[in-house]
Amino acid sequence: MTARTLKAADPVALATELAASFADRAAAHDRDGSFPHENIADLVASGYTAMTVPAAWGGGGAGLEELCRAQETLAAACASTAFAVNMHVHGIAMIAGIGGDQAAWAYRAIVEDGAVIAGGFSEPGVGGNWWHPTTSARPVPGGYLLNGRKGFFTGFPAADLLFLSAARTDDRGLPQPVGFLVPKPGRGVRVTAEWDAAGMRATGSHSLVLEDCYVEAGRMVGEPGALPLMFIQGVHWAWCSFASVFLGIARGALGLVVREQRGRTLHVLDRTVAHLPGVQFKVAEARTRLAAAEAHLYQAVRADHEAAVAADPLGHYIDMSVMKNSVCRLAHEVVTLAMQIQGGSALLAGHPLQRMYRDVVAGLLVPPNSDVTAEWAGKHALGVPVLAEPRWEG
Ligand SMILES: Cc1cc2nc3c(=O)[nH]c(=O)nc-3n(C[C@H](O)[C@H](O)[C@H](O)COP(=O)(O)OP(=O)(O)OC[C@H]3O[C@@H](n4cnc5c(N)ncnc54)[C@H](O)[C@@H]3O)c2cc1C
Repeated sequence: MTARTLKAADPVALATELAASFADRAAAHDRDGSFPHENIADLVASGYTAMTVPAAWGGGGAGLEELCRAQETLAAACASTAFAVNMHVHGIAMIAGIGGDQAAWAYRAIVEDGAVIAGGFSEPGVGGNWWHPTTSARPVPGGYLLNGRKGFFTGFPAADLLFLSAARTDDRGLPQPVGFLVPKPGRGVRVTAEWDAAGMRATGSHSLVLEDCYVEAGRMVGEPGALPLMFIQGVHWAWCSFASVFLGIARGALGLVVREQRGRTLHVLDRTVAHLPGVQFKVAEARTRLAAAEAHLYQAVRADHEAAVAADPLGHYIDMSVMKNSVCRLAHEVVTLAMQIQGGSALLAGHPLQRMYRDVVAGLLVPPNSDVTAEWAGKHALGVPVLAEPRWEG
C-alpha cells in the first residue's frame, strides 16, 4: 500500500476525520481483544503514518505539536489505535536524529510502500530498563544473530518493520546496547503470548522470542553505542507523544461524561444531573486537572529541545520524563473523576467510560518508569550524581 503524500495535509484534521469511524469500532475491538487492522490501513492510506517523515522525503514533515494534537484526537476515539500507531509516528522522528542511511531507507518504505514500524525494547526481567538489554547480538558473517525475549511489542500484528534492541559485546568485552531496524523477519521471531490484557486491549502488544534471528549489520540504527544517544536526543518525541495519548483519553472521557450529564435526569430529581453540586464540583476539578496536564505537556512540546539537549542532556531527559509521568497521573485522575460523575453505569460493559478507565491505567505503567524518574529528578535537583553506582550512595 502506498501512503498518500502528506505534504499539505494537516494531521490534526486527518485525525478528526478518521476519529468517528475509529470510535465506532473501538468497543468491538476492546471486547474481542482484536487488532484494529482496518484502522491502521486507514491511517496508512490517508498518509497519517507518513506525518513525521521529512517533507523532502515525501512525508508530512509534522512537528511535535502537530503530532501530539493529532494523537490526542485519535486517542479520544480509540486509545489502542492511537497507542499502536504512536510507536511508529514518534519512532520515525527519533531515528531521524541518528539513523543516517537507515532513516532514509525507512522513509522510503513508509512513503512508497506504506510500511509500519513497531518497536521492542522491554524484556522480561529487564522491564523498562531498556538500556540493559539481555537480548544478545552475536556477530556472524554479514550481520548478527539475535537471541532473547521481548515482553511487549505494541503494533506487532500490523508491523512491516521491527525496531529491536540487543546487546553486542564491544572491544573491551562489555555489553553495548544497539538497535536494529529490519523488515519483519520471516524466521527467528515467534509470538509466545498473544496480547490479552485489562487495558489497551486492541494494541496487539504481543510477547516474542527471538531465536537465532538474523539481522544484516547494515540495518543497525546509527553507530554502535548510539542507541542511548538516540533516546537522550529525541526523548521529547517519545515522552510527549506518549503523554498526548493519555491526555486524549482523559479529554475524551470528560467530554463524554459532561455531554451525558447535561441531558440526564434521575427519578428523584426534577432537573438534569448537571444541576447537582457534587457533579458540578467534580466536573470543575476534572477540568482543572486536565488543564494542568495540557499546560505541562505543551510547555514541554514547545521547549527549545536542541538547546536543552546541548545544555544539559540528562536534565532534558528528566524534564520530559517528569512531564510524561505527571500528565499520565493527571489523566488517570480525570478519568477516575469522570467515572464518579457518571456513577455506577460507568462500570457497565456497554459504557465507553469503563474502556477509557482501563486504557488510561496503562499510562501509569508505560515508560519512563515513575520510580526511576522520581529518583533521577530528585538526585538531579539536589546535585547528587544521577547515574552513580551504587545508586543510593552516589
Ligand atoms: C500497554 C503497554 C504497551 C507496551 N508496549 C511496549 C512496546 O511496544 N515496546 C516496548 O519495548 N515495551 C512496551 N511496553 C513495556 C513497557 O515499556 C515497560 O517495560 C513495562 O511496562 C515494564 O516496565 P516497568 O518498569 O513498568 O515494570 P518492571 O520492569 O516489570 O518493574 C517492576 C517493578 O519494579 C520497579 N522498577 C523496575 N525497574 C526499576 C529501577 N531501575 N529502579 C526502581 N524501580 C524499578 C517498577 O516501578 C515496578 O514497580 C508496554 C507496556 C504496556 C503496559
